[in-house]
Amino acid sequence: MSTVADTTSRAFAEALDAADPLAPFRDRFVIDDPDLIYLDGNSLGRLPIATVARLQHLVRQEWGGDLVRGWDRWPGLPADVGDLIGTELIGAMPGEVIVADSTTVNFYRLATAALGARPGRTAIVTDRANFPTDRYVLQGLARARGLAIRWLDPDPVEGPRVADIAQAVDDDVALVTLSHVNYRSASVADLPAITRLGHDAGALVLWDLSHSVASVPVGVQEHGVDLAVGCTYKYLNGGPGSPAFLYVRRELQEELRNPIQGWFGQRDFLAMGPEYDPQPGIAAWQVGTPSVPGLVAVEEGARLCAAAGIDAIRAKAVALTELAIGLHDAWLRPPGFSLGSPRESARRGAHIALRHPDGRALSGRLAERNVIVDFRAPDSIRFGLSPLTTRFVDVWEGLERLRVLAG
Ligand SMILES: *Cc1c(COP(=O)(O)O)cnc(C)c1O
Repeated sequence: MSTVADTTSRAFAEALDAADPLAPFRDRFVIDDPDLIYLDGNSLGRLPIATVARLQHLVRQEWGGDLVRGWDRWPGLPADVGDLIGTELIGAMPGEVIVADSTTVNFYRLATAALGARPGRTAIVTDRANFPTDRYVLQGLARARGLAIRWLDPDPVEGPRVADIAQAVDDDVALVTLSHVNYRSASVADLPAITRLGHDAGALVLWDLSHSVASVPVGVQEHGVDLAVGCTYKYLNGGPGSPAFLYVRRELQEELRNPIQGWFGQRDFLAMGPEYDPQPGIAAWQVGTPSVPGLVAVEEGARLCAAAGIDAIRAKAVALTELAIGLHDAWLRPPGFSLGSPRESARRGAHIALRHPDGRALSGRLAERNVIVDFRAPDSIRFGLSPLTTRFVDVWEGLERLRVLAG
């Protein structure tokens, strides 16, 4: 490791890059502007070079030349890409993950199926810091079904604690659902313990993995997770609007029913039969014609993450966020910043939030200085430190420019 003594120096960050086993992965992405400090890969991941060629081939040869004959091959993509994400990145078994639709739609479908599987129970447990789309979907479901939402109000930095969940869960709860990594603070929920608590009360547990897939190991099989959804355009680098994934634990696949009975979930969909007869297993969670360009782009992004390995990705995410926190402590506390993410690395995902009353304006001024971050109201500047594409010197440069602005 580094022999540079001053941990706030650029030389220290350079030494970390020199020792970084994932450093070569950055060369596998399109980087047009070498001076751009891109710290927003948790909103939209960068474009893999392999994806450019793959999409060109798909559009020019497969769509342009094969035309409808492409459907001889394309129907296998949702399950194949699902298995790649499932087995390499979230610890699922083959046949438990499929790529389809958006995270929002998948969340709605899995939550609906879970509520249907717990008739007579009248409550849903989630937290007020959960991602907006999840909260809105739950509000709609609760209204339509006459259910109550038990809202937890966790610490905005530390996120929901096991003790908070334990208080809220009883045998009237049908569904417990949380984000694994919080989108604002990056706090990591205690997925094993919370899943166990839900199960002990007889509830089903649904996790949103949008900010954890390809940044934090999840271990869905190991921890007995029932259901999960996640996004593919963040750390998976699938591109804007790329299709999401959903996971249904194998033991639940017979019991839970996809509430949208579309023809792509049908056993022999080209037979165009009179009655819905779903495919066995995870394939039943398809709905309509999938986006083939989206699927191949997700496949290329997921391949890169799988090649890097989730443990190496996690180790680098910890190191990147540690560097950022160290620089925050040294430089940014005096001008009024505070850390909006957990200090304990085990409780933190791959981004950090720095809170400041003028956070919105400062984010805009960073953009003028070629540093892309994002702002989450009321006061959090988020630095997304995507381990395959973010260098330690990018962290240093981004925070150095913020120090100059705020000083
Ligand atoms: C990004 C994200 C989503 C995205 O949902 P879409 O349907 O793709 O818009 C959902 N949940 C969480 C936690 C996210 O971070």
